[in-house]
Amino acid sequence: MPTPPHHPIAVIGAGLGGLTLARVLRLNGIEAAVFDLDASPTARTQGGMLDMHEDSGQAALRAAGLYEEFRAIIHTGGEAMRILDKDATVRMEDDGDGGTRPEVSRGALRDLLLGSLPEGAVRWGAKVTGTRTLDDGRHEVTLADGETFTADVLIGADGAWSRVRSLVSDATPVYSGISFVEVHLLDAGTRHPESAAVVGGGMLFALGEEKGFLAHRDPDGSLHVYAALRTPADWATAGAVDFADTEAAKESVLEYFDGWDKRLRSLIADADGALVARPIHALPVGHRWDRTPGVTLLGDAAHLMSPFAGEGANLAMLDAAELATAIAAHPDDVEEALAEYEDALFPRAEEAATGSAVNLDICFSPDAPQSLVDLMAGYRAESA
Ligand SMILES: Cc1cc2nc3c(=O)[nH]c(=O)nc-3n(C[C@H](O)[C@H](O)[C@H](O)COP(=O)(O)OP(=O)(O)OC[C@H]3O[C@@H](n4cnc5c(N)ncnc54)[C@H](O)[C@@H]3O)c2cc1C
Repeated sequence: MPTPPHHPIAVIGAGLGGLTLARVLRLNGIEAAVFDLDASPTARTQGGMLDMHEDSGQAALRAAGLYEEFRAIIHTGGEAMRILDKDATVRMEDDGDGGTRPEVSRGALRDLLLGSLPEGAVRWGAKVTGTRTLDDGRHEVTLADGETFTADVLIGADGAWSRVRSLVSDATPVYSGISFVEVHLLDAGTRHPESAAVVGGGMLFALGEEKGFLAHRDPDGSLHVYAALRTPADWATAGAVDFADTEAAKESVLEYFDGWDKRLRSLIADADGALVARPIHALPVGHRWDRTPGVTLLGDAAHLMSPFAGEGANLAMLDAAELATAIAAHPDDVEEALAEYEDALFPRAEEAATGSAVNLDICFSPDAPQSLVDLMAGYRAESA
């Protein structure tokens, strides 16, 4: 039998974390083989806006030598935020001027990172289905087409449902109790002016009765909306909502918002295209593992958390930059590099995951939106 291909460093996942890792390694003269299950870079839309935090996402972009290019793709005005109640009464508004967390579209950021790597750096259509550690300490990876390869260092940057994670930990993501229903309203300024006005120029939180709407104006003028509901874990699949029938699904979701302001209900009623259910999961807060030779995790694979701290992508990129830097700093001792990386990773991830869990409770407490208004006032007072 022919010997399977071997890679000194293999990265599973070409999301923001995996690409940042490959880029920073490359800047340090280290090649890594990157594998992703998507058939191509354009196989999936990369919708949504991300705010880049100074000490994580922006720090990673500096390490990647891409900070100036990042400044050129910022969505000006995207830092604006409004908090409304179920009657669409504005309870807090901030125009975002002078903010330090510029917004960028996830797709543009992904393209920036991908474009910084040579053609062919990522092998697309490579779905990992199995991983195991061999007797000689190397790791064997099996792809969906049956192909295998081995790696000295295997890095799981493969997101929430990581296939690498089981090499270091038994943990699996747990349902948070909140499900999002994702919709878009295209060309909102012209086609949905009332909805565009209620969302404003940046981020909208409209909360009450332990549910709500989270929405954002994208740079292309469309509205990206999540209706957020407290539901059982199997809500999206148990047949309560027929997601295959868009009009029926809209009616079912709108039943949850009976009595809410018409402009908020319109975010669902007027949506373009299908409704997509996105149950929100998280790994246990404080997830960590014992040092396992030649393998580690980053980003959601290591510390999936609910999106209510707005940290996940930022941390994935920071993890990646720090891991790459540690590997470059210890060319003859990768174990030392992985240990150093994980020593910083675990407490950082625990702190963010704790904040994320607290923020989820704040957004969906019976006191919302006042609880969120109070939280934001606290942040402002801290930074003043
Ligand atoms: C609704 C929502 C809103 C969010 N908003 C924010 C925000 O505002 N700010 C923020 O910082 N974070 C936010 N996040 C979190 C953020 O999206 C994630 O934390 C971030 O994408 C994690 O990056 P990653 O590279 O670790 O994983 P991912 O982005 O999930 O990338 C993993 C990659 O691995 C590939 N992959 C997966 N399995 C396999 C396999 N078996 N074989 C090969 N490849 C595989 C995938 O195709 C993917 O390309 C949000 C998340 C959600 C759900």
